[in-house]
Amino acid sequence: MKLKKFNIFGWSVPVLCMVIDENLHGFFDSAKKEIVMHKNADEKFHTMMHEFGHAVWFRTGMNQTGIPISMQEIIVENFASAFVENFNEICYNKKTLEKK
Ligand SMILES: [Zn+2]
Repeated sequence: MKLKKFNIFGWSVPVLCMVIDENLHGFFDSAKKEIVMHKNADEKFHTMMHEFGHAVWFRTGMNQTGIPISMQEIIVENFASAFVENFNEICYNKKTLEKK
């Protein structure tokens, strides 16, 4: 499965799908700057957006603010859920707003 890299404020972040620890759906590797998802996980799109949130979090230095990991998890999960639930509407609105 070939997925496109994200550009997160100048970081080129590949998205990889492979067999990983079965207890994980995915993770963001801040050292390698890559998103890794379990190839057999359910809801891969949701997982990708959750890990995208972690990537933005690290890229913007939010990991240096002292906000606990548990709070980071809640924030990125809420954004991932809202994004996934409204993805079609976001795409439609983007297309509509960009019409001339
Ligand atoms: Zn997480």
